[in-house]
Amino acid sequence: MIACFRFVSQLPFWYLRSFQSRMLTTTQTNLDSVRAQLAGKSVRLVAVSKYHPAESVRECYEHNQRHFGENYVQELEEKANQLKDTCPEIKWHFIGQVQSNKIPKICSINNLFCVETVESEKHCAAFEKALAKINSDSQLKVNTSREHQKGGASPEEAVELGLYVNNECPHIELNGFMTIGSVENSDKIPNPDFVVLASVRKEFSEKAGVSLSSLELSMGMSTDMDTAIKQGSTSVRVGTAIFGMRELIKPQWSLSLQDMKKVEESSDEKQDDSFRPISMKCGVFEDSKGSAYIEMGKTKVLVEVDGPRESPSVASQRGKITVTVNEENLRIRAQLESAISAMVHLDKYPRAEFMVNVSILSSSGGELSACILASALALVHAHVELFDIPVAGHVIFLPQTKSFVIDPPSPLPPSAISITVALLPNLNQLICTRIKGALSVAESREALSFACKHSLRLYPVMRKSILSSFQNQPKTVL
Ligand SMILES: *Cc1c(COP(=O)(O)O)cnc(C)c1O
Repeated sequence: MIACFRFVSQLPFWYLRSFQSRMLTTTQTNLDSVRAQLAGKSVRLVAVSKYHPAESVRECYEHNQRHFGENYVQELEEKANQLKDTCPEIKWHFIGQVQSNKIPKICSINNLFCVETVESEKHCAAFEKALAKINSDSQLKVNTSREHQKGGASPEEAVELGLYVNNECPHIELNGFMTIGSVENSDKIPNPDFVVLASVRKEFSEKAGVSLSSLELSMGMSTDMDTAIKQGSTSVRVGTAIFGMRELIKPQWSLSLQDMKKVEESSDEKQDDSFRPISMKCGVFEDSKGSAYIEMGKTKVLVEVDGPRESPSVASQRGKITVTVNEENLRIRAQLESAISAMVHLDKYPRAEFMVNVSILSSSGGELSACILASALALVHAHVELFDIPVAGHVIFLPQTKSFVIDPPSPLPPSAISITVALLPNLNQLICTRIKGALSVAESREALSFACKHSLRLYPVMRKSILSSFQNQPKTVL
């Protein structure tokens, strides 16, 4: 050990410097491990950079990545402009839902390589018109997208659409076919959605008389790219595995009390695989010890924490959590109390009591998970020591279609089975599970893992909410 230490300490300074310059960023290391998974296979890697800064895109570019995917026109436009000088060979893929009125803007983007999500003849006609107008001499590549959950083309329509592009759109080149795959099939091997996409390509190639190898199959993301490649993918779109978790949900941080009164304005609108719009604020009142507010769609919860204070009624060496809920909802109260007690380091607070006062201001589904999240934020704001920042989520299972919906607004369909979970991600510990309705053992296992997986998407949001609440208080040491 000592010899080793001496050896290291005697290394010349320049060696250390050159070592540092050889150090890769996390993004570049992640990129290397994704490439290792693709090694030896002729599959293109499209790095999906949505919600991540242009700086991260540049890091990948400097590590020889050229193809990048973005979902939102404005975000793509901004990054394309920021990077057009430093990354001249970049190739952008638009992979978000196409809105007709944004098509001229999409066509004007620097270094646009392919639009992967063309769903209808209406889209194609609009692209054709916009491209003819800017006199583009290169053909825009499109993939017809088969995204049934988001209203994409059906298999039959995708084939027809391909023929339409070939016959009617001289400014457009058909590049291939893409699918995201449905949420419920995402863990299946083989994945039935990928099977369908491969058959769409085959049918098109026969009808149009073009070779299979000239048509791409864009399928496979971070969690299912191995399956997709085994099923013939030629282009995978990988985000999380390269750039880390996205703050999928754009939360509002600067919520004032006046804003909170405008309760009617937030909406329950969402897509099946995402959460409703969410806002959270850690620390709402100046004078109260700990407080937090959360909105998930139209569900709104405010929490105040009082304590720790010494309580003669708590005889044990561990502290005690007492929860009050404004509504007469006893079941929620008991479950909330047990979840909160599991996240607080109660051994550090002997003979002390915490009051967690929860006010459900408006109910529109997912109350228990919203209460758990808001309570955690209020406890952090009160400087109470937690084992970990919890995440929580509410999903439903629809037995007829055997499908899941994330964070549904109420009222729920009558047959829906409702599942709420909360967990401490770093400890890999569940602190709350509630299943309302009858599920088989296999189904409940699947439901719990689905709910946990999606709840984890809230972790960066929770973290950021906490950090931003302490950034305004320079005296606080985290
Ligand atoms: C976000 C996104 C991806 C990347 O997903 P990850 O799970 O982060 O790899 C791929 N394709 C589309 C269409 C996307 O919207």
